[in-house]
Amino acid sequence: MSLTKVTETVASSINAKKAKLTLCILSSAVLLSACGEHAQTDNTAAASQEQTAKNTLINTDDFNIKAMVKLPQTVECTLENGLQTQCAQVVLKYQPDNIKVGPFCPETLDDVGGIWDWDGTDAGLYRLDKAFLTMLNEQGFTFYDEDGNVHIVDNATIRPTVDHACINVSVDKSVEITALLPLHPVMSEQSTALGTVSKVGIALAGVPIFSDAPSVQRTGHLPALDTCAGHIDPGGWYHYHGTASDIDSVYKHEHVKANCNNLAQKPSALFGYGFDGYPIYGSQEVDGTTPAELDSCNGHTGPTGENGIVTYHYHASNTFPNLPKCLKGVVAQNNLTTTAQAGVGAKPPEGTKITRHEPPGGGGPKAAGPDGGGMSPPGFAQAAKKLGVSEKALNQAMQDAGGPNADLAVVAKALNVPLEQLKAALPEKPKR
Ligand SMILES: [Zn+2]
Ligand SMILES: [Zn+2]
Repeated sequence: MSLTKVTETVASSINAKKAKLTLCILSSAVLLSACGEHAQTDNTAAASQEQTAKNTLINTDDFNIKAMVKLPQTVECTLENGLQTQCAQVVLKYQPDNIKVGPFCPETLDDVGGIWDWDGTDAGLYRLDKAFLTMLNEQGFTFYDEDGNVHIVDNATIRPTVDHACINVSVDKSVEITALLPLHPVMSEQSTALGTVSKVGIALAGVPIFSDAPSVQRTGHLPALDTCAGHIDPGGWYHYHGTASDIDSVYKHEHVKANCNNLAQKPSALFGYGFDGYPIYGSQEVDGTTPAELDSCNGHTGPTGENGIVTYHYHASNTFPNLPKCLKGVVAQNNLTTTAQAGVGAKPPEGTKITRHEPPGGGGPKAAGPDGGGMSPPGFAQAAKKLGVSEKALNQAMQDAGGPNADLAVVAKALNVPLEQLKAALPEKPKR
């Protein structure tokens, strides 16, 4: 069946049989074409499936059907701690049919692009415009030529020939993304920090969510985000780097002239689910109040959704990136794979002619860093020398412990060096 056909079938079945669809979604390994019949003929099985539906936090019905290659399914999965359980499996397109992405890079100094979270001097969230790009110019980053044309490079297919380019990756419409979300979330003994481009979760819009995009300080290039905090992965698919359904609150708070144009803004709405299966809400509770007693991951336990189900859940903050700072629960093994040629989770089908590559400084499909990463931040080589460890080991330990905001105690332990010595050796973080 063609993709378009699946979408049409899916869309019409959603409209016609919304109630039955829940049952279909939850029954494992039922083919789409057989789904309607199954729901009509097997009421006993349906009833028990409905029971399962009520006992899980994730209602796959809430996901944007226009982003789906096929209907979500319940599948057996193994969590990182070895526990065998059930996951919702969602298979997504390179980007949802009903979402308009971009603009990312401005073409000239007179144009306005998306946004960027600058971490150099005068750090902060900026609109990609003349004022920002000329500020970077004064700091030694030249992103445009004498005529005011911005250096724009699709660095998944072309190597940049300039030191500083704004990155605008082309899409690969053939990509399918498969994600696993635990249906019965399990709290982890220790929360997992989210560093550069760590996998955060899946938005209801049908878009993967990642933490901080790679820093310009590290790669020299600017992987521009659109005003919904999304951009294209080197693999050719769209993803968010913020809680897009409540990003306008951040713009208001940080005095940035921008609005998200591809997702409705609602601070109390459910944005998506973390890869640990816990829900991610905007900056308000479902009743519009401000969340209280949030933990270090920006989450807490309390009532959620229309039915007031009490569960652990995350909230967006009003600073960028407005995402959970860590994940409290255990994620599934292989929780995100793509058929893409490069980027996060890339597992291209055998025989694929590879025309895309990891961007400069990228570490290949298996590395943690997808849209950049792999290169050490300035001062790391020196710090590694002082500590008597390899630069690679230091970089890896920092990445594993949460990237630029890594828990240094964890890093010290991983490298087997005293914490104080580590702190003294590391370069100072840029002021915000
Ligand atoms: Zn990214
Ligand atoms: Zn809450």
